[in-house]
Amino acid sequence: MKVIKIDKAKWASGVSSLQGTYKIIGPAVDGDAHNFKELAKGEEPDFNFLNTKLSPKSIVFPQSEKMLEYSVDENKEDHHIMKEVKKDYSPRAVVGIRPCDAKAINLVKMNFDTDDYKDPYWLKLYEATTFVGLACDKPCDSCFCTSTGCGPYNEEGLDILLKEDGASYVAKALTEKGETLLGAAGFSDAGDEAAFEAGKKDAEAKITSSVQTDKLKDFSTLDLYNADFWEDLSFACLNCGTCTFACPTCWCFDIQDEVKGKDGVRVRNWDSCMFPLFTMHTTGHNPRGTKEHRVRQRFMHKLKYFVDKYEKGIMCVGCGRCVNQCPVNIDIRKVCDVMNNHVPEPVK
Ligand code: SF4
Ligand code: SF4
Repeated sequence: MKVIKIDKAKWASGVSSLQGTYKIIGPAVDGDAHNFKELAKGEEPDFNFLNTKLSPKSIVFPQSEKMLEYSVDENKEDHHIMKEVKKDYSPRAVVGIRPCDAKAINLVKMNFDTDDYKDPYWLKLYEATTFVGLACDKPCDSCFCTSTGCGPYNEEGLDILLKEDGASYVAKALTEKGETLLGAAGFSDAGDEAAFEAGKKDAEAKITSSVQTDKLKDFSTLDLYNADFWEDLSFACLNCGTCTFACPTCWCFDIQDEVKGKDGVRVRNWDSCMFPLFTMHTTGHNPRGTKEHRVRQRFMHKLKYFVDKYEKGIMCVGCGRCVNQCPVNIDIRKVCDVMNNHVPEPVK
């Protein structure tokens, strides 16, 4: 593991020199917030942000992704043959991803890269990407990453962890991919790892918000599923889906065919368990027919089913996006604490 010191005066030219080899994706001003986008030649990632409004999950899991194409026009070569859409899987680097979002991509990987199924679209984009994390020295008031098994200097899912240190950055190469990127940028001055230890301690001390998760695993699934608090917790929900679209760990999608004339494409689009159509059967029956069912599904998945299935803690990295963006202030921290402190009805 190499630690490199990068003089801020040399940062822009180093990043720019990467642009022959990598697409550079970084945080940039987007309206009244920051979001990730591909940077133009010479454009620097803008590190003047706390966290981006949308998570960077779309870098490996696009919101709308063409998978296959076909034509039934017999005048065309290869008609009636389903073909994979050609896509760009050239090397890319996401520079400035927060540690919570990188850990979230690792959690999502458990869905797309299993022993039984390997999602080629997700995996090719994931493998083409080098993740350069930016440690969080000023966490938001709504961040609760330290109680979700994450933290402002968490290294899971990263190839490099970068931290600001006065007039320099210090970069810790965590993988071979990370070392290759630092070499390609021409950054080679030795740095001091002690900067990370001190920064981590200070940043963790600034996180004042938390969730209680210690008892979630002990409950029977049915005790939580049938608990009487769901009506109350879901009462204000609009089923707008903002929480799931903003969340870095939500991975639900739908696959649709879009047909124009005799040509069609098969597209994978983000979907949300908060939308009534997500589980609508063709018969018209909907097994999650009320918003109470849907709110329960979102939280049971994140805070119980995932916990039991993977034994990796909750399916939430504490980024606070859903807390800040829910229009009716439904707060996963409160829901998690209600679930964790549930007292099941005694068996009669
Ligand atoms: S953002 Fe809030 S209102 Fe919208 S679906 Fe999520 S919990 Fe419901
Ligand atoms: S805080 Fe909300 S948006 Fe962030 S990871 Fe947890 S559930 Fe997702």
